[in-house]
Parts: sequence; C-alpha cells; structure tokens
Amino acid sequence: MDYFLYQIGILHAEDVAIPEIAAQVGTPFYLYSAATLRRHFRLFDEALEGMDHLVCYAMKANSNQAVLKLMADMGAGMDVVSGGEYARAKAAGVPGERIVFSGVGKTRQEMHMALSGGIRQFNVESEPEMIALNEVALSLDMVAPITIRVNPDVDAKTHAKIATGKSENKFGIPISRASTVYAQAAAMKGLDVIGIDVHIGSQLTQLEPYRAAYEKVADLTKQLRAEGHNIRRLDLGGGLGIPYERSNDAPPLPMEYGQMVKEVLGDLDCEIEIEPGRLIAGNAGILVAEVIYVKQGEDRQFLIVDAAMNDLIRPAMYEAHHDILPVVEAEAGMEQSPYDIVGPVCESGDTFAKQRNLTPQQAGDLVAFRSAGAYGAVMASEYNSRPMIPEVLVDGHQFAVIRPRPTLEDMINRDTIPEWL
Ligand SMILES: *Cc1c(COP(=O)(O)O)cnc(C)c1O
Repeated sequence: MDYFLYQIGILHAEDVAIPEIAAQVGTPFYLYSAATLRRHFRLFDEALEGMDHLVCYAMKANSNQAVLKLMADMGAGMDVVSGGEYARAKAAGVPGERIVFSGVGKTRQEMHMALSGGIRQFNVESEPEMIALNEVALSLDMVAPITIRVNPDVDAKTHAKIATGKSENKFGIPISRASTVYAQAAAMKGLDVIGIDVHIGSQLTQLEPYRAAYEKVADLTKQLRAEGHNIRRLDLGGGLGIPYERSNDAPPLPMEYGQMVKEVLGDLDCEIEIEPGRLIAGNAGILVAEVIYVKQGEDRQFLIVDAAMNDLIRPAMYEAHHDILPVVEAEAGMEQSPYDIVGPVCESGDTFAKQRNLTPQQAGDLVAFRSAGAYGAVMASEYNSRPMIPEVLVDGHQFAVIRPRPTLEDMINRDTIPEWL
C-alpha cells in the first residue's frame, strides 16, 4: 500500500496535489512519500517482532540524504556497499554500530574508513578480502567484526541481472567451502567472526527460494557451532519483491516473510538482520513527467515524454514494467488506446512501455510512473547532457525539494579544460 491516490480526479502524494508540485518544481521529477517509507520500514520491523533483530535498509535502492535521515530517525540500520554510501549513512546520522558493509570489492581504503568511523560488521565475500581486512584491522590495532557471505546455490527465480545466490554468480563463498574459510577467519587476529550472511537476489516474488537458502544457513549455523565458532548473528539479506503491476498477484508480504524466518531460524538464538531496499523505497516513489508530443507513427502512436532512460533506466536495463498513470484521472467511460511511451534520448532502448493502453493524452499532460522510488534516481545519469532530475519529498501537507535540478551551467562547470589545450 502507498499514499499516491486520486482525490477528486487529481493524483495526490499524501495530501499534496501533484500538479501543484509540478508547477513549482518543473518536470520531470522524482516524488517520494514519507508516510509510505515509514510504513514499509515498520512492516519489516513488526514482521520480526519477538526476535532480536535489526532492519538494515539497503540504501543503494535510494540514498538521498533526506530518505536516509527519515529511516535513521525510525531506528533503521543501513546496509552499505561502498565508501560513498558509508559516508552518506554517517552524514545522515546513522551510528557506525548500525551500519553493515556488503559488497564483493571493498577496497582497503573503504575498510579503513569504516573501521575508524565505526561499523557493526563487514559481510566478507571472499578469502582475499578476508586477508585484506585482517591486515587493515591489525594496522589500526583493531578487530573487525565479520560475517561471511555464503553462496547457497539457490535459484532466486528473479531476473538474471539481479540473481545473486547461484554458484555462477560472483557473490559470497561457496557454502561447501564454508567450513574451511571459517577456520581460516577464526585464526586471524584482526577478525572477530560473529555470524553468517546470505543474500540471494532482488525482486523475489516467492518465499521458497528464501526458505531453501535459510534452511542451508540453519544447518551451517549448527555445523559451525559444532566446529567451535561462536555464531550469534545471521544477516539474511534483502530482496523481497514488490508488485510493479497492480493487476498481478502480489509477492509475499513482509509479515509472511517474517513468519518463515521465525519458522526456519527462530530456535537458533541468533540476532537477525535483514537488508530490505526495494520493498521499502520502491512503491514509496513515483516519477512525474510531462507529455511533450503525441506522434503518429506508421502503425502506432508514440507518447513522447520529458523523462528518459537516463532518469529511469529500469525498463531499458531489466525489461521492467512500471505502471503509468495520467495525473488527471480519465473521465469514466473514456476509451483507451495503445501508446508506445518513450523519452527524448537518441536510442530505441529509450522506451518505457510498448502498446500501453491509456486514455487520450495531449502535449502538456502529466503522467506518473509508479514504483520508481527504488533503483530510480540512484541509477540516473546525465546521458545526452540531460540534467539529473530533482527529487521531492512529501510528508502530509508539506513537500520539499530534497535534491535540486542542477543548472546547465553547474553541469558544464563540473568539467575542466586543461590549460594546455
Ligand atoms: C541489493 C542488496 C540488498 C537489497 O536488495 P532489495 O532487493 O533492494 O531488497 C540487500 N543486501 C545486499 C547485499 C544487496 O546487494
């Protein structure tokens, strides 16, 4: 559930009419609902009630400082995957003891940064990384808390580009080698081995792959304990999917996910961490664009809007579906016709949707791309020298621009021309 609803025929974000924001900010822009973000965080927090747990928001989904501050104020931890994200989390007021560091390619510089700034744990993904982290920790006269990410070889049944739990994926250590690798880690004086980490992919729409992975984690926990390791924390990753198409079956709810976690892992007496990103931010955001032209092609109509693949790359990159709604609700009984909805970028891949049925649209009309709050703004670029679009946050009756649109001058002045040229 989210808070983007029609009120008397006009799409609102919470209590604010979207045309009002468009008039002030200019299109295109991202628009986030604070109430939806809070609601989604609470769903996860409540789903794990009764277990010692921490919800670490996977901030790569949406790392705007205002979004991070809102999450931090609710008590969220953060899952970070780079030094940049670590710095953003700290700048938003997240204490180090609530930050977990994931990722296959952490550099020594990033390790140094997180160790000296404070960190809950590193989720280590390989032996060379383990060796590097041990060295960095010892050089600082510190001990780095770690879990080791295991690759359970489970098919997450999601898009290949966001599946991470199969043996051919670059993530984690093969679960079959866990015993050896944990023994190596335990022998390193700069490391404190506290648990196990697993993350099998993103946009999962079934519980079965999770259950299969978590059963392997439960078995591994018992095995490693028998081998003398004090396993006391399980990081279960993120990845729970969201309904991109409201007409489709909805993926499992956080409550059902939490129930399954309790069933499979509840009797291990471990602290549980989860790392949801998409489910928290995805349906808490929309992208608002304006129709520039309606163009008649040979056999189809094109709706050319002022947002493009550089602003929202998911359709081009993952063949993703986004529901597209007119901001001014169509009158009842109005006929729909199919449009190809495209942006101005000079690539045929700059297509948001093909043959999507909409009521008649005209230049100047506003449309909203739903489910754009996660992996939207964070993946944007300035391809075609299109300035990054602004981000706006609504909270009840108020709204604010939380990242302004750069001027063309700002954009140009970021480059420098060498004196000798
Ligand atoms: C991307 C990622 C997540 C979040 O995935 P969502 O699908 O956004 O919930 C969590 N943990 C790790 C390690 C990730 O790489």
